[in-house]
Amino acid sequence: MHYLDHAATTAVLPEAARIACRVMTEQFGNPSSVHKMGIEASGILETARREVAALMNAEPSEITFTSCGTEATNLALSGACRRKGRGRHIITTAIEHAATLNTVRRLEQEGFEVTYLQPDSSGHISVDDLRAAIRPDTALFTCMLANNEVGTQLPVREFGAVLKKRAPEALFHVDAVQGLARIPIKPKLWHADFISVSGHKIGAPKGVGALYIRKGVHIAPLLFGGGQERGLRPGTEGLPGIAAFGEACRLRREQMQENYSKVEQLCALFRAGVEARFPWAVYNGMSDIPHVVNLSFPGCKSEVLLRVLEMRNVYVSSGSACARGKASHVLAAMKLEHARIDSALRVSFAPSNTQKDVEALLDALEEGTKRLRRA
Ligand code: PLP
Repeated sequence: MHYLDHAATTAVLPEAARIACRVMTEQFGNPSSVHKMGIEASGILETARREVAALMNAEPSEITFTSCGTEATNLALSGACRRKGRGRHIITTAIEHAATLNTVRRLEQEGFEVTYLQPDSSGHISVDDLRAAIRPDTALFTCMLANNEVGTQLPVREFGAVLKKRAPEALFHVDAVQGLARIPIKPKLWHADFISVSGHKIGAPKGVGALYIRKGVHIAPLLFGGGQERGLRPGTEGLPGIAAFGEACRLRREQMQENYSKVEQLCALFRAGVEARFPWAVYNGMSDIPHVVNLSFPGCKSEVLLRVLEMRNVYVSSGSACARGKASHVLAAMKLEHARIDSALRVSFAPSNTQKDVEALLDALEEGTKRLRRA
């Protein structure tokens, strides 16, 4: 199998799976129980929190565990905006993940006014556009660190500086789901109040995420219950997933540079192969991180090409996995023509990929594009 769809999800790291299994079968206490097993479980929870915090350059007390990146973003945006006394204006970008866009749309229905910053044709968002959009009643600006479809990196440091200068009361949320363990997370440098991350993009199981909440920032919870996670995310903690997430963060932190170089080399190899074998292919957006590359093979519908690749055990994606066949809103916002959007493939690498995976992908693309261009 040649899996090159790591922006959709990743395999669980064996070390993380081992810990999850141990927590499910042996150390299965409830962190809220006061007996020995509960205390042991609480220790596992706090160890994981320290590891996530370390990878995010944050304090453990600033990390709240959630069920996924989507929940972390919902908690940040809804929690921040529903607080009394805040302005009614939100700024975001047109290239956000559905987790952000649909939460913001919901807030729009509740009476918030939203400004959507538009990307240029390379998928970048300008700092000047943010500056121009800020108003005295801006309550929140939310944007991603790295785009999941085209791999652009947004200038969050500059965004944070401009936001806090023009609207010091406004809160800043960064969706770092695709950036974690790839790009260093710098909450203070970015002036970030909230940062969402997700376990399954970095080798932890699905069903665990986290939200960084800057010390001193208070938000309203989405759920009500037993007071876990300082009342912000009540419900018995999903400890197997959380423990595995902590372990994945520890490993990713130790190997971050080495992993980045590996992915960079794989991406360069792929690009060289594309140049040599498909000089007619066009790249969509400028992928600033080597983990995500988006390109179109004109004349080859991506849904069909995907099936041909799949028959050769090669797995990539046609845009974002969450969009499930819908035309990409990111490529549409970049104003690419329909035929290009219709033939766009997203290839996303992980350090576990090898040269063989890249070669298999190039061979499968050769077969697929020949077949489809002839048809
Ligand atoms: N934000 C981005 C940029 C993503 O790529 C994703 C998942 O694809 C999410 C948020 C949602 O994360 P989760 O799948 O953990 O809910």
